Amino acid sequence: MIQLQSVVKQFEAKNGTVTAVDQVDIQVKKGEIHGVIGYSGAGKSTLIRCVNLLERPTSGKVIINGVDLTKASPEQLRQSRQKIGMIFQHFNLLKTATVYDNIAIPLKLLGYSKQEVEEKVKKYAEIVGLTEKLASYPNQLSGGQKQRVAIARSLSQEPEILLSDEATSALDPETTDSILDLLLEINEKLGITILLITHEMNVIQKICDYVYVLEKGKLVEHNTAIELFTKP
Ligand code: ADP
Ligand code: ADP
Repeated sequence: MIQLQSVVKQFEAKNGTVTAVDQVDIQVKKGEIHGVIGYSGAGKSTLIRCVNLLERPTSGKVIINGVDLTKASPEQLRQSRQKIGMIFQHFNLLKTATVYDNIAIPLKLLGYSKQEVEEKVKKYAEIVGLTEKLASYPNQLSGGQKQRVAIARSLSQEPEILLSDEATSALDPETTDSILDLLLEINEKLGITILLITHEMNVIQKICDYVYVLEKGKLVEHNTAIELFTKP
C-alpha cells in the first residue's frame, strides 16, 4: 500500500546541502500500523511529508497503491492524496470555526451536498466521541479533544491511509493513551493503514506492528515492535 524506495530528500542550506532523508526504504501493507522513531532532527518529519509529496523527494520512489507519486500527473497526485489523511502535533484546526465546521469545511470544498456533509460530520464526530462538542470552538476543548477533531476531520474524507506526525507529542500520558486507543480502533474497525512518526517509545510499543529507527536520515534498524523491545 505504501512503498518508499531509496527515498532521498536534500535541502540547500547556507552552509551546504543537508541530507534530511538518506536512501530510505519502507513498505507498509494494507491494515498495518508502522512507526518511525528517532531523535529530533533525525528526518522523521521530512520523511513522512514525502509520503504525500508535501515534500518532493530529491530522488527515489513513493508508491501508493501501485502509483509512483513522484512521476504522477497532477490529477493522479490529487486522487492519491485524497486517500491519504494526515494529523499533526499541533492539530492544525481553524480557531475561528466550530468543531462542526472544522470537520465540515473540507467536505464542502470537496463538493459534498449539505446533507452528505452533515451525515459525515455526525458519523465521524461520534466515532471520535465528540458528538456533544459540535458547537464548541477549539479553544474550549482539551488537547485530546482537539486531536479528536483533527482525526474526525481526516476520517470524514474516508482515507485509506492515515499519516500521523507526532500526533500525541503535545499531550499528557493519559491523553496520549486515549488517542492511541482511538487510532487502534480506527485501524481495526475502519481498516485504515497507519504510518506514524514519533520520538516516544511508548507510542511504538503500544500500537505499532512494525518499527523503523531513523538516525541522521538513515534507517539504522527495522523490526517488528515485539522483536525490537525483547531482544537483548
Ligand atoms: P525530525 O522531524 O526528525 O525532527 P526533520 O525532518 O524536521 O527532523 O529535519 C531533518 C533535518 O533536515 C534537520 O537537520 C533539519 O534542520 C533539516 N531540514 C528540515 N526541513 C528543512 C528545510 N525546509 N530547509 C532546510 N533544512 C531542513
Ligand atoms: P451552511 O449554511 O454553512 O452551508 P448548514 O446550513 O449545514 O451550513 O449549517 C449552518 C451552520 O450551523 C454550520 O456551518 C455549523 O456551524 C452549524 N451546524 C450545523 N449543524 C450542526 C450541528 N449538528 N451541531 C453544531 N453546529 C451545527
